[in-house]
Amino acid sequence: MSPKKRRRKRKSVTLPEKGVPKEEIFKELKELKEQDVDWKSGKCFAYVYYYTDEHEEVIQKAHNMYFPTNALSPLAFPSLAKFESEIVSMAADLFHGNYKTCGNVTSGGTESILMAIKTYRDYYRKRKPEIKKPEVILPESVHAAFNKACHYFDVVPVYIPAGEETNWKADVDAFEAAINENTILGVGSACEFPRGGVDPIKKMAAIAKKNRISFHVDSCLGGYMLPFLEELGYEIPEFDFRVPGVTSMSADIHKYGMTPKGSSTLLYKRERIWKNQFHAYTEWMGGVYASPTMSGTRPGSIIAGAWAGMKQMGMDGYLQMAKQTKEATDKLIKEIDAKPELEVLGDPVMTVFSFRSVDDELEIFALGDVLKKKGWMLDKLQFPKALHCIVVPHQAEVVDDFLEVLDESIDYTKKHPELAQKGDAAMYGMMATLEKRDSLDRMVNGFLADQYKSR
Ligand SMILES: *Cc1c(COP(=O)(O)O)cnc(C)c1O
Repeated sequence: MSPKKRRRKRKSVTLPEKGVPKEEIFKELKELKEQDVDWKSGKCFAYVYYYTDEHEEVIQKAHNMYFPTNALSPLAFPSLAKFESEIVSMAADLFHGNYKTCGNVTSGGTESILMAIKTYRDYYRKRKPEIKKPEVILPESVHAAFNKACHYFDVVPVYIPAGEETNWKADVDAFEAAINENTILGVGSACEFPRGGVDPIKKMAAIAKKNRISFHVDSCLGGYMLPFLEELGYEIPEFDFRVPGVTSMSADIHKYGMTPKGSSTLLYKRERIWKNQFHAYTEWMGGVYASPTMSGTRPGSIIAGAWAGMKQMGMDGYLQMAKQTKEATDKLIKEIDAKPELEVLGDPVMTVFSFRSVDDELEIFALGDVLKKKGWMLDKLQFPKALHCIVVPHQAEVVDDFLEVLDESIDYTKKHPELAQKGDAAMYGMMATLEKRDSLDRMVNGFLADQYKSR
């Protein structure tokens, strides 16, 4: 049968002839939601950042008040432009910028990173037109969004090691050695996603400055945690605009900033760089069209929700949130690292860490599967294989429960070595060790297509 015929034969969802009654819609939403991970129980070490019911209520109310608005036009919605510039201003203050610090609210970390790469590409096109193939130096631990950005904007990603030899941080010597006449930008993370360590930002930014290239700090994960931990007296390596040579930062409010999903901040030290982010098309029949970021239409509800969320937290709220999360994390790290079978990797400074197995009888991904069967979700990392924990505030209440389940699960996994050859453990294990990475790309893209194919 040809693919076309098969498609016609398959029964797929079409628009209902008549509008579905709202009761039915909500019933179906509720039912389907039950298949999703139960993040509110605290059993999910990722994806959803939640603080308190009161905080949620404030965000939701602000969100609903601004529900149908569109931030595309600051002229139609000056209130949204005000919220956005105030969010940027609050962020600039937290990251020790000054009155010159500028930037935008974007739809998330990925958009912030896409925009940063595009901005520097265009800035250097004007400033150094002799560069035909601009290069960006990335530690191998840097978020995958940088690879995506380089791919989208035709910039060459040059990876440097961030391995065990340098305690899973960017290798400073390799960074310096990678700089050549085509380099436009260096990147460091605070903190990096895989192990929660902070790259040697001060050294890297100094090298960048000396070589007259720009330097971006990716604080998507740590931006709204590290400043509060520092304020609480924890020792945090300098990572923000205080560091000479740092020219821009990305920081997600929709992670530890506790704002609605679809909000992030992107800041620049200098307006002359920032302006390269914008796009204006003045010849359009639809009128003069200008926009600061990737999106055209932008939901005002998210910006209003983010503004309200940050205001409601305030410094005291964020400090409490950070303290609670950090204490829970420290206990988890201490107990996990003390287990003879497990080892916490690197130097996690905040509330993100990962651990691997140091016991031949314990396959770490199989342990992940056993935990998942018991309702606990930890993502699987590779190079080396490890399990990942992003600790969120409301998990403070479930630390002891988790440690208990972890003990049982370690025993169970060791007694069932066959689990390593089954389920997710087998699949992720294969992916982490496969030699032919090209065929893996194709396989993963096929998987993605399957997820979103019409039903
Ligand atoms: C989450 C994250 C990103 C990407 O952000 P999204 O909001 O998921 O698009 C980038 N860098 C780091 C370090 C992150 O943790």
